[in-house]
Amino acid sequence: MTTASPATASTPRHAAYPHLLQPLDLGFCTLPNRVLMGSMHTGLEDKAADFPKLAAYFAERAAGGVGLIVTGGFSPNIVGWLKPFGGTLRWPWEVRKHRQVTRAVHDNGSRICLQILHSGRYGYHPLQVAPSRLKAPINPFTPRALSARGIERQVAAFVRTAQLARDGGYDGVEVMGSEGYLLNQFTAPRTNKRDDAWGGDATRRMRFAVEIVRRIREACGPDFIIVYRLSMLDLVDNGLAWDEVVQQAQAIEAAGATLINTGIGWHEARVPTISTSVPRAAFTGITARLKPHVGLPLVTTNRINMPDVAEAILARGDADMVSMARPLLADPEWVNKAREQRADDINTCIACNQACLDHVFQNRRASCLVNPRACAETELDYRPTATPRRIAVVGAGPAGLACATVAGERGHHVTLFDAHAEIGGQFNLAKRIPGKEEFHETLRYFGRRIDQTGVQLRLGTTADAAALSSFDAVVLATGIKPRGVDIPGAAHAKVVSYVDVLSGRVVPGRRVAIIGAGGIGFDVAEFLVQEGESPSLNAKAWRAEWGVDLAYGENRGGLVAPRPEPPAREVWLLQRSPGKPGRRLGKTTGWIHRATLKSRQVKMLGGVEYLGVDDGGLAIRVEGVEQVLPVDHVVVCAGQEPYRPLADALPATDVHVIGGAEVAAELDAKRAIAQGSRLAAEL
Ligand code: FAD
Ligand code: NAP
Ligand code: SF4
Repeated sequence: MTTASPATASTPRHAAYPHLLQPLDLGFCTLPNRVLMGSMHTGLEDKAADFPKLAAYFAERAAGGVGLIVTGGFSPNIVGWLKPFGGTLRWPWEVRKHRQVTRAVHDNGSRICLQILHSGRYGYHPLQVAPSRLKAPINPFTPRALSARGIERQVAAFVRTAQLARDGGYDGVEVMGSEGYLLNQFTAPRTNKRDDAWGGDATRRMRFAVEIVRRIREACGPDFIIVYRLSMLDLVDNGLAWDEVVQQAQAIEAAGATLINTGIGWHEARVPTISTSVPRAAFTGITARLKPHVGLPLVTTNRINMPDVAEAILARGDADMVSMARPLLADPEWVNKAREQRADDINTCIACNQACLDHVFQNRRASCLVNPRACAETELDYRPTATPRRIAVVGAGPAGLACATVAGERGHHVTLFDAHAEIGGQFNLAKRIPGKEEFHETLRYFGRRIDQTGVQLRLGTTADAAALSSFDAVVLATGIKPRGVDIPGAAHAKVVSYVDVLSGRVVPGRRVAIIGAGGIGFDVAEFLVQEGESPSLNAKAWRAEWGVDLAYGENRGGLVAPRPEPPAREVWLLQRSPGKPGRRLGKTTGWIHRATLKSRQVKMLGGVEYLGVDDGGLAIRVEGVEQVLPVDHVVVCAGQEPYRPLADALPATDVHVIGGAEVAAELDAKRAIAQGSRLAAEL
């Protein structure tokens, strides 16, 4: 078995990304490149009826050139369920449905491993088990502590699932040993309080994981890929110490693993690990630290989304492969585009979690904000049209961009109008928020798509009824107008809109109140407290801000006291409804926004009554107590109303209204892009 080595004279070199596109010899098989599609639950794993959709989803990624795919997690038994009736592989008759997946992947030239995931105390059901009877802070259920016989039964279940995976045509398995799931619960003193053969010192805590790998190797033979996902940075108190991480990796290698994949952070950790504000490749340094200690290839992960980022990691020798899950949801052709030196054509994952992880946590099928076809490959078809038409799309925000480019791809003659000098609509404001720099990528991608699909772009052009009269169909994607506030002093010079602030027309003073604590209010607060370089563009500064210590200098788990930058302004973030602001933010990201503002000393108040604005500031009443916030500016982020003045001016036939122009309430780019794409697929 060989580990990372750049191309030699006998192997082909790829000009742009020689390390990324270098084959990897695993001894008994050779992967064509260094891209592993990381495990990600899609919601299609749980019912047999969904397997044709799952097969189509993986088939597109296999055809897109990925070297090795790992499925979402399947439990080895019902006590290891993630949720009641979650996907398992534990009986011979379940093998048949998996063959649809493995055949689809092999027919398209790739390889696939099944991830075996035992949730332990993270299982959202009362049957859950764990090394010790300790409830997870993110789960209402308390686990039952496993007996020694119970532990043997879990090991046997892992082995049986691996054998069934082999029968089902999988090239191997990934054993999930990180993110705070059962194996990680055994390895860490935080959750393993046993003093028998399965707990106590590090060797006994890791015995469960090592035994599973050893016995899978024994049962499945030498030519079966075993990926072990090892938690290299727990990011929780009383997690593993660094010497224990090294010891575990060496024991897992000796037990017969083929690859070690990197796991970062338990689900209960209070440090973001994959959200858009996490700098690209912020954690790969930890894989690099492990590299000299093991001989088998290492896979690194988290916030790697573009080929230049992946190439730099591999060229530095930090790892032998990169794992990406969401970037391949966003663009199944990612690897082929890199190979063809078309990185600018990649539909980049912006790490928003809005359509993938947030959906999974809501028990909905995953998809992707920038690619609504993800997990809907059999349903959303951009087939060429038999009857090309002349279509006008008014508004080049996310809804209009998606609609125009899909219609253009299908062969329609599309003209796209925007009143502004650049495409993007509100994304041009969003991309200025610290931590949302990735939004630039979506605009770059749509710019390329406009060129490639032959869409005629008319920027700086406010479309009117006369300009639209000659088209066969008109799509109004004219977006929104910000809602004003109806309070005394609303016309005072201190009162400005979020558009004024984010566009740079107004530079607020040192003390600012924000009216409205929705997604935009939170973003504006983050914009106001940050001065200078965004921590999301500087991994070292970001790690200091969140207390991540790759050197494990002080504590187990890689944690150190956070050192947030002082706020650039004194900010109040206000809402009328009672309770804590931010409760309606995204499931997997809302806590990050709240924690960021808290660390920057933003005062977040609910149950606020706005009494008025004058030269002295903003007068408010909270729980019957009046006070004046002595602010220089009041930024209004009070939601939005649809903007569609053209709707009534056009003849009724074949006019479609989409995005914020149709419904502004609870609008986001996920809805805008999906609606635009779906409409264009039907036009
Ligand atoms: P818009 O983006 O509003 O685009 C409408 C376009 O129509 C504009 O470019 C306008 O110039 C043009 N137009 C209007 N009338 C005419 C005319 N007559 N002729 C020509 N052109 C016209 N969403 C998320 O999902 N996730 C986020 O993290 C997120 N963050 C955000 C952060 C901020 C600061 C802001 C402001 C928004 C954010 N959003 C986010 C919301 C997201 O940007 C919107 O939901 C999305 O832009 C709506 O798309 P749209 O195409 O409907 O409208
Ligand atoms: P929003 O989420 O609807 O929030 C509007 C805020 O204004 C609320 O806090 C509301 O709370 C307050 N408000 C409403 N009417 C008001 C009035 N008349 N006077 C005073 N306050 C009023 O809207 P938004 O923040 O403008 O965001 C727009 C859309 O963009 C959202 O749907 C959101 O999904 C999307 N977005 C998403 C993200 C993201 O990270 N996913 C980020 C930004 C934006 P009270 O009524 O309690 O005061
Ligand atoms: Fe990436 Fe957002 Fe798509 Fe998820 S929804 S894959 S985070 S772009």
